[in-house]
Amino acid sequence: MTHFFDADFKLGVLGGGQLGRMLIEAGGPLNIWFSMLDPAADAPCAHIAHEFVQGSFDDYETVLAFGRDKSVITVEIEHVSVPALKQLKKQGKWVYPSPEILEIVQDKGQQKQFFENHGIPTSKFELFDSGSEALQSFGTPCVLKLRKGGYDGRGVMVIKDTHSALPLFDTPVVAEEKVDILKELSVIVSRNASGQTSVFPSVEMYFNSEANLVELLFSPANISPHQEQQAQELGLRVAEAFNLVGIMAVEMFLTPEGTLLVNEVAPRPHNSGHHSIEANITSQYQQHLRALLNLPPGDTALRTPAAMANLLGAKGHDGPVFYQGLEQALATTGVFVHLYGKSHTKPFRKMGHITALANTSEEACAKAQTAARAISVRSSR
Ligand code: ADP
Repeated sequence: MTHFFDADFKLGVLGGGQLGRMLIEAGGPLNIWFSMLDPAADAPCAHIAHEFVQGSFDDYETVLAFGRDKSVITVEIEHVSVPALKQLKKQGKWVYPSPEILEIVQDKGQQKQFFENHGIPTSKFELFDSGSEALQSFGTPCVLKLRKGGYDGRGVMVIKDTHSALPLFDTPVVAEEKVDILKELSVIVSRNASGQTSVFPSVEMYFNSEANLVELLFSPANISPHQEQQAQELGLRVAEAFNLVGIMAVEMFLTPEGTLLVNEVAPRPHNSGHHSIEANITSQYQQHLRALLNLPPGDTALRTPAAMANLLGAKGHDGPVFYQGLEQALATTGVFVHLYGKSHTKPFRKMGHITALANTSEEACAKAQTAARAISVRSSR
């Protein structure tokens, strides 16, 4: 095994989007050499990776060929070729997260069963071959989720009653009881091959109901110290159950009764950890790299409360991107702007984000929202 500071060390990443881009940025101080695989020639990593390979990360042959000369292989998206990663692992490559974790996470049905089998609290659920079958026997209100292929709320449907005249999924689904959600939380955890773990302070998230995307989040979450401890412990339990190597975002619901339920996990850097670049002593990206390379985890403590707002493509704008109002955001103390380098904007496309640091979460949220509102991601001047 070559070491990350050896001249021939190569870290291969499946996916070349914004998460990969921030991973490359975090790898600079350790002089890590990155190769990214992505189908889009102008992906956010295309012009900053040491090597950029254009190709499909869910194609067996492409991934196998991509992995051949890499020392360690990781992902920045879950929908990749698991059979190819299993083969690379068999060949002795370090593949983190393991293909077995990715296989579970790619299927929301298997993921829920995993939680159930490992005693991880999660909402009640049942698996069905189609949405209409689920509606007949599961009862309402409920939440139907496509088992495979959904992301960012696409493939999730809230069903109020059996008369809901919705176009139902005709592929396998998970039906879940509709949880009364007080807060949506995310806890990021890391674990290296030696079993050393770390956990980040929890994050509270707010979603854009139209686009089902995280619109605003802040850390620390506005919960009691006891709940904070419970959330962090639950996050760590989930990482141990998966025998994780790498980083994992554990998304949870907090109910009005104070119960924590795990909704889903993402075994990679996550939108809910963007703020950690400026706000935490060690960012989620640096922590992911440390876990992959079996290095000791860094301190996860927050330097100050922080908030993060996604910069989404404006409605009605589809074309070459133009950012309006960046100057005002950049002129605000404690506001940091990240642009992902996507040349084309579309309504609700994640084009960048704003992180704001302040003395309190409320102040950080207000600052992030003001800065994000000042910016408009448009397709023309
Ligand atoms: P995705 O993987 O597409 O982000 P999620 O499973 O996270 O899908 O669901 C998207 C959103 O739908 C959640 O953030 C939450 O607001 C809502 N949701 C999901 N499951 C439930 C549930 N069982 N009860 C109530 N709301 C839910």
